[in-house]
Amino acid sequence: MEKLVSLAKRRGFVFQSSEIYGGLGSVWDYGPLGVELKKNIKERWWRSMVHEREDIEGLDAAILMHPKVWEASGHVAGFTDPLVDCKHCKNRFRADDPRIKGTPGQPDAQCPACGTKGTLTAPRQFNLMFKTFMGPVEEQAAVIYMRPETAQGIYVNYLNVLQSSRQKIPFGIAQIGKAFRNEITPGNFIFRTREFEQMEMQFFVKPGSEGEWFEFWRAERLKWLQGLGIRAEKMRWHQHEPGELAHYAKDAYDIEYEFPFGWHEFEGIHNRTDFDLKNHQQASGKKLDYLDAATNERFIPYVVETSAGADRTALVVLCDAYREENVEGEGEGGGEQRVVLKLKPSLAPLKAAVFPLVNKDGMPEVARRIYDDLRRRYNVFYDDGGSIGRRYRRQDEAGTPFGITIDGQTTQDQTVTVRDRDTLKQVRVASSGLVEYLKEQLAT
Ligand code: ATP
Repeated sequence: MEKLVSLAKRRGFVFQSSEIYGGLGSVWDYGPLGVELKKNIKERWWRSMVHEREDIEGLDAAILMHPKVWEASGHVAGFTDPLVDCKHCKNRFRADDPRIKGTPGQPDAQCPACGTKGTLTAPRQFNLMFKTFMGPVEEQAAVIYMRPETAQGIYVNYLNVLQSSRQKIPFGIAQIGKAFRNEITPGNFIFRTREFEQMEMQFFVKPGSEGEWFEFWRAERLKWLQGLGIRAEKMRWHQHEPGELAHYAKDAYDIEYEFPFGWHEFEGIHNRTDFDLKNHQQASGKKLDYLDAATNERFIPYVVETSAGADRTALVVLCDAYREENVEGEGEGGGEQRVVLKLKPSLAPLKAAVFPLVNKDGMPEVARRIYDDLRRRYNVFYDDGGSIGRRYRRQDEAGTPFGITIDGQTTQDQTVTVRDRDTLKQVRVASSGLVEYLKEQLAT
């Protein structure tokens, strides 16, 4: 994992937040390549969820919401983690922190930070929502929350979307946006952060049909993830035990990935029943039921939710793509070890890099022309620094699928070499056909 974190920094994927001040705990910034990778993942999700489906609408609700939303949703009372404190060193831990030896609250428990025995308190519930104040006065009545999930923005807009889009049940609402949780055992890079992005879709169905839709969405989501190029054997399902279920859920499956630090969830499919809409109807006094015109029945829809973290999905994609390999006979650098991100080309931040073999004999001019032409369509990179082997290695680490080299032959017959990141094979392509060539390669 340290290797991936250091590559992420070196190549400009992810930096620690406020690094020059020593960093801010579990908050990360996306650099030039990271922002592209995450954007590609989000766009792919949006395309498959919203554009390719007639029965799902998009939404972008505000982060700040009426505080009553979080009371009705159960988050004020129930969005908690059990935590224990060390009375000696004042550190705080999740009660299920595997580093804790013994039973917190008992004399045998040992603090994982200072090692003292018997100083850990019994677990206490700690709310994960960030609070702030709205308006000029910092008082209890002005408290509002930074949303801990995007889903509630969908529920409170459910009627607005239904009426304005003229959808009929079953239909869904999808949203991508920031969420905030005051996580106490953060860590593992961008796996668990205090500010993150969710890609959530709430699918509203007739009560009684939620089981079928639950299975439908489980299959769809797995298919989508496989489409990102994630190795199938690195993913598995985990069904929540009754004691594990979130306060709103009746059934839940996580999709887990085998990270370098073990199997962990990165997406969840949840049967949230009518829990949220019923509570909002009761708390707001606004009717949220649905009239089925065909049968004249009124009901509060059930909800099947697919909830993914954009950052965690990006981490999965990065972990899955990271390889260390020996390269045999590739000009300079042959026989060396290389680090390569085998990202699916359509997800890669940079689609191609353009290299003049040497900085003379008209090559830079031709290379610049090709670069200018390509970058009107794709995010591409120009590099004329260092040996060609070194330039390849840098792009391997960035996950750039194609290296386009302009050499002596180019000036004679207008062809260039295109080197494939994964196979290292080189083919000659007419420079006028490069856009078409890339288009084909990036189609999936
Ligand atoms: P965990 O058990 O890891 O805390 P959760 O079960 O609380 O996660 P959900 O509330 O189901 O997670 O959130 C859905 C998705 O949002 C998760 O699968 C994950 O991808 C993402 N997510 C949740 N919390 C975080 C976080 N602190 N940092 C990054 N991503 C997160």
